[in-house]
Amino acid sequence: MTTPSHTGHTRIGRSEATTVLAGAHLPDGRQVDVHVSDGVITAVETLGRERPPGAAIDDLTGFMLLPALAEPHAHVDKALTADVVHNPTGDLLGAIDGWIAASKRGQFTHDDIVDRSSRAMEQLVLSGVTAVRSHVNVGEEIGISYLRAVREARSRFAGILDVQLVALTAAPMTGVDGAGNRAALAEALELGVDLVGGCPHLDPDGPQLIGDAIRAATEAGLGLDLHTDETLDPTMLELRDVARLVMDAGFDGSVTASHCVSLGMQSPEIQREVAREVAEAGISVVPLPQTNLFLQGREHPTATPRGLTAIAALREAGVVVAAGADNVQDPFNLMGRSDPLETAALLVMAGHVQPDDALHMVSNAVRGVIGLPEVHMRPGDPADLLAIAAPSVRGAIAEAPHDRRVYRAGRLVARSSSDRTLIR
Ligand SMILES: [Zn+2]
Repeated sequence: MTTPSHTGHTRIGRSEATTVLAGAHLPDGRQVDVHVSDGVITAVETLGRERPPGAAIDDLTGFMLLPALAEPHAHVDKALTADVVHNPTGDLLGAIDGWIAASKRGQFTHDDIVDRSSRAMEQLVLSGVTAVRSHVNVGEEIGISYLRAVREARSRFAGILDVQLVALTAAPMTGVDGAGNRAALAEALELGVDLVGGCPHLDPDGPQLIGDAIRAATEAGLGLDLHTDETLDPTMLELRDVARLVMDAGFDGSVTASHCVSLGMQSPEIQREVAREVAEAGISVVPLPQTNLFLQGREHPTATPRGLTAIAALREAGVVVAAGADNVQDPFNLMGRSDPLETAALLVMAGHVQPDDALHMVSNAVRGVIGLPEVHMRPGDPADLLAIAAPSVRGAIAEAPHDRRVYRAGRLVARSSSDRTLIR
């Protein structure tokens, strides 16, 4: 039920179980009480107005209230293995080779993957994330064993963290040699995943893989999230194939192209032209600055490229661009704190994105990509919120303070604090 209130704000009907998130400031500087009930924001009132009798009060004085953060591209099955799986060359193929060798040694047991995936998800929630999309390896060698483990980890976060899983099919996915990997994808679809994934840039026949993945997603009624053009080689531009094949197929599920590194190596004209096609096909693009800064560019010792897609051209064309971390402390990326504010800082520094836009790209834009309603602090918006002890959006990204409160559907699901004292 929606009724105009005496304050001129719109309110929706309250139940007894109203919680008031009291006294936080918004990025525009207003200090407010945000009322939440039944998982949604029911009112946003100027501080000092009467509070509903019986409401629970969460004092957020000194905190800034933001939409919850979200992670569009994780690999929780690989997370937190940097000390045990080595990448001698530091690049993408070194990471893949290191991972496969460790997998063949039997290093990744079911319990190990459940444990590490759970820890990765926990770190995300503590940082303020209430929704994550993770790719999970499936393939001939491992079957769907990783997927079973990650699904078990996901079950521990019911009501705390929305987790979407992508079946990341091992290469090759096409041809005779791909038969076992295609069979593993079929098994994954049978068990249950949310999206079909794959790596056309690692396959002998990228366009064939893209077409096959579109058909598999169509038959299963799922979305598609492809690792696309994770290379600085400007002659590879399969993002254009993804756009054209999606259009030709009339595919109406959600489509995400992750990485799209080589688009960043094109001339501005080609960037604009491809961005237009990507926008027309309704494809979202997910740059992953941290992992690509680590993996890409080692063969370019002079003026080393940053390994980022053409963020500005894509956004100007109307493409939804959301950013993620990709790998966290594994052979693909030795660093990472599972904090989207770290990604946002890299968007500002390496991607030349303004702080407010960078925050959007790790919060509401991600929600758009993964199919969740955005949070704009309006009545009716989901109460997926992050309270953080920071003076401004720029300050939050710069300092990434630990002092945070995380709300999922209006319920406090994480609280963290830091205590630092100078002793004279
Ligand atoms: Zn990835």
